[in-house]
Amino acid sequence: MSLIKKELLDILACPADKGDLREIENISRLECLKCGRKYPVREGIPVMLLDEAEAPIAEGKCEAEQGKDLKDNM
Ligand SMILES: [Zn+2]
Repeated sequence: MSLIKKELLDILACPADKGDLREIENISRLECLKCGRKYPVREGIPVMLLDEAEAPIAEGKCEAEQGKDLKDNM
């Protein structure tokens, strides 16, 4: 049983990078497919706030490299 309606998932996006989200039903989270942040779902309502998001497990340099790429592109 899905917590979130598929139509809702389709219009939601990660506030950090507009990435697509997937539902992780057993822990009531929406995970961004791009950055791996996990957003809580409270009483069926996804909380799409960076402040509320669980950061992805740090894999060392990953995030630093993304930041560097961003700056290089600017
Ligand atoms: Zn994201």
